[in-house]
Amino acid sequence: MTRPFNFSAGPATLPEDVLQQAAAEMLDWHGSGMGVMEMSHRGKEFISIAQQAEADLREILSIPANYKVLFMQGGAIAENAILPMNLSRGARADYVITGSWSQKSAKEARTYCDVHVAATNEADLHTRMPAYGSWQLSKDAAYVHVCSNETIHGVEMHELPDLKALGSDAPLVIDCSSHLASRPLDWSRVAVAYGGAQKNIGPSGLTLVIVREDLLGRALPITPSAFDYQTVAKNDSMYNTPPTYAWYIAGLVFQWVKRQTEGALTGLAAVEARNIAKAALLYDYIDGSGFYENRVAVDCRSRMNVPFFLKNETLNDAFLADAKEAGLLQLKGHKSVGGMRASVYNAMPLAGVQALVDFMKHFARTHG
Ligand code: PMP
Repeated sequence: MTRPFNFSAGPATLPEDVLQQAAAEMLDWHGSGMGVMEMSHRGKEFISIAQQAEADLREILSIPANYKVLFMQGGAIAENAILPMNLSRGARADYVITGSWSQKSAKEARTYCDVHVAATNEADLHTRMPAYGSWQLSKDAAYVHVCSNETIHGVEMHELPDLKALGSDAPLVIDCSSHLASRPLDWSRVAVAYGGAQKNIGPSGLTLVIVREDLLGRALPITPSAFDYQTVAKNDSMYNTPPTYAWYIAGLVFQWVKRQTEGALTGLAAVEARNIAKAALLYDYIDGSGFYENRVAVDCRSRMNVPFFLKNETLNDAFLADAKEAGLLQLKGHKSVGGMRASVYNAMPLAGVQALVDFMKHFARTHG
């Protein structure tokens, strides 16, 4: 059976190998007589799954030893509150607004701290990242929050800001939900990286929080204990019952990343090279087509989320119906932006993007 290509922004397509393996292990994981969903999180079977997943993620992303990896719940939206509870001490925090997700983060944080908007791209309708030199950073911020890939608008930070060079000593916090594990991460610039799993990592229900150890132990007294980073870290993410099945699938995805090759490249480097090639194929076609357009500044375009518009928007419904017929699913743009959006996460093969481009060409020819 060949499956259609699924361009959903998340929950999103997963590597077929991973789904097959999970299916094969559904009733009996490694001869244990139990499926992973049925295991105690405190049993040796699940502990081994959990530890392997963390070790693989650490290897893929070269996470330094002085960072804790927390497997939490609530998604990135819950982190919008959990993060200021843990890091702000009720004082000032800088937020950079680059699209809908960072806007939501700043709004939620206002309940817990004094939010200062250091930069915003609202005037550009979120089509480019605000130039780093223009950021008005506070002298005394508890942290600086950015969304390093805005899933809805399709803008990505291809190089994270060096806050020290911009005059801030604050730790950088990134919501990297929609490009986590699509490219290496520069830990010399990042103190906290968090994201929901349901794009590049696995099913929804799992939130990854990767936090530098010196930032633990600052939680406001109102912080629910299950959301106190220090409590979660001390208990190896087992203070409460973690989302065990999502953690297991994430582990299979990390092993899949490690197995990938592209020419001489392996692992995350191979995945990144493929992501670059996929994005180039799609953007190049859109730009040259005369029929479709992407409105994001070229140097800020996301490799993961590609919003595009038909110049004749009366054809939108026909485009979506024909795409579905052609085995290309979930291409409708976010309602706040309109048009189309192709999310091309790690698990989307180059062949999927090629099939989309071939379809778009055919549609343009027959409707142009
Ligand atoms: N931040 C970003 C960048 C996202 O893409 C999303 C989900 N699309 C969220 C936050 C919200 O995530 P969740 O719904 O899992 O809380």
